[in-house]
Amino acid sequence: MTTAAHRIVILGAGYAGLAAARQALRAKGAQVTVIDARAEFVDRVRLHQALAGQPVRRTDIRKSLERKGIEFVQARVERIDPAARRVELAADGAARGAGWALHYDSLVYALGSRGDRSAVPGAGEFAYSIATPEDLARIPELTGKVAVVGGGATGIELAAELAESRPDLEVELVSAEEPGSWLSAKARDHIRATFDRLGVRVHAGVKVREVTAAGLELVGGERIEAGIVLWCTGFAVPDVAIRSGLAVDADGRVLVDDKLRSRSHPAVYAVGDCALMPGSDGRALRMACATALPAGKYVGASIVSRLRGREPEAHSFGYVLQCISLGRRDAVVQRVRPDDAPTDRVFTGRLGVFVKESIVRAVGGAARLSPLT
Ligand SMILES: Cc1cc2nc3c(=O)[nH]c(=O)nc-3n(C[C@H](O)[C@H](O)[C@H](O)COP(=O)(O)OP(=O)(O)OC[C@H]3O[C@@H](n4cnc5c(N)ncnc54)[C@H](O)[C@@H]3O)c2cc1C
Repeated sequence: MTTAAHRIVILGAGYAGLAAARQALRAKGAQVTVIDARAEFVDRVRLHQALAGQPVRRTDIRKSLERKGIEFVQARVERIDPAARRVELAADGAARGAGWALHYDSLVYALGSRGDRSAVPGAGEFAYSIATPEDLARIPELTGKVAVVGGGATGIELAAELAESRPDLEVELVSAEEPGSWLSAKARDHIRATFDRLGVRVHAGVKVREVTAAGLELVGGERIEAGIVLWCTGFAVPDVAIRSGLAVDADGRVLVDDKLRSRSHPAVYAVGDCALMPGSDGRALRMACATALPAGKYVGASIVSRLRGREPEAHSFGYVLQCISLGRRDAVVQRVRPDDAPTDRVFTGRLGVFVKESIVRAVGGAARLSPLT
C-alpha cells in the first residue's frame, strides 16, 4: 500500500516563500507546492529602479519552480482553515466558477506586504505607492515636479534614483525626520551631500496633513505643489491571517514563537514581512528582504528537520549591514551591530555600490532558485 506524500504548501513566492521552498525540497518523499497570485517574480528591492526607467528582470515563477520539481499554483489565497488543514483560493476568473481549496500537511505563510497609504487623508486617492509591481503599473508617466514622501530607506533610494536617471524631473523629498535618521552621522551626512549633488530638495522635519490633487498640505499650513506624489512611509500586510483566525498584532502581522510558528496555530509557520519575527533581543525584526530570506530558509529547513524526527534550534538572526542605494553610482553601506544599531563604519561611493549590488544580485538569484547561488 502506498501512502500519500507529505504536502508542504508555501503561500507567497517572495523572498521568504521561495527560500523556504528551496530548503523544503530536501524533504525526501514530500511534495512542495508554492501558491502566489502573480505569474512573475520581480525583485521588489529594485522597484525604485524600474520606476526610474531601468530594465528590471522578470522571472516566470512556474518555470523556475517546476524545473526544480516544485509545484506552482497561481491563485489568490483567500483564507486558511487550520482545523481542516486547507487553503482556500479565489475563483480563477470565469474558468473555475466558485473558489477552490488545497489540502496541506505543513504550511508556510509568507504573503509579504504592500504599500500603506492609510495614515493621511487623501494619500489613498492622490498618492502612489511603489511597494509592488502592481503599484508601479498604476503610476502615470512622471513629469515635472515629483514629491517623494518618507525619509526611510525606500524613500531615500527612490528620490536618489529618480534624480539621477531622470534629470528632467524636479524631485522633492518630504520627511518627518532627517532622511536616514536611524543611521550614523557619517551615513546621514553622505545621504544629504548626495541629495545636494543630485539636486533633490529635502524638506525634513515636516509632517503631511493631507494629499490633494495639487500636491501636499503640511501640518502648519505650508503647501508643496507636485504633479505626482509617491508615498513611501511604510508597508501594511495582507489580512488573510486575520480572516483565518491566526493570532496577529495590531498591524495584522502574525505572532510567532522563537521557531517562527504561529503562536495560536503552531502547525502554521509564518515568515517575512507578514510575521512579527522576534530578534535575539525579543524586538521585532525589520520588514526587509535581509530578514525575510534567511528566515524563509530557516523555516524550510525546520520542516525538513521535523520530518526527519529532529527538533530544530530556535531561529536566531544578527544584522551585519544596512545598504541603501543612492542612484547607480553611489550607495551608503552602514555597518551595524547584531541588534541593528549603527556603528561608525560606513562605506560609500564605488565600494558602497559594489557591496549593495552584490547583495541585491545574490538575493535575486536565490529567490529565482538559480543554480549559481
Ligand atoms: C523599492 C523597494 C526597495 C527595497 N529595498 C530593500 C533593500 O534594499 N533591502 C531589504 O532588505 N529590503 C528592501 N525592501 C523590502 C523588501 O522588498 C521586503 O521586505 C521583502 O520583499 C519581503 O519579502 P517577503 O517574502 O516577506 O514578501 P514579498 O516579497 O512581498 O512576497 C510576498 C508574495 O506573496 C504574494 N501574495 C501576497 N498576498 C497574496 C495572496 N492573498 N494570495 C496569493 N499571493 C499573495 C505576493 O504576490 C508576493 O509574491 C525594499 C522594498 C521596496 C518596495
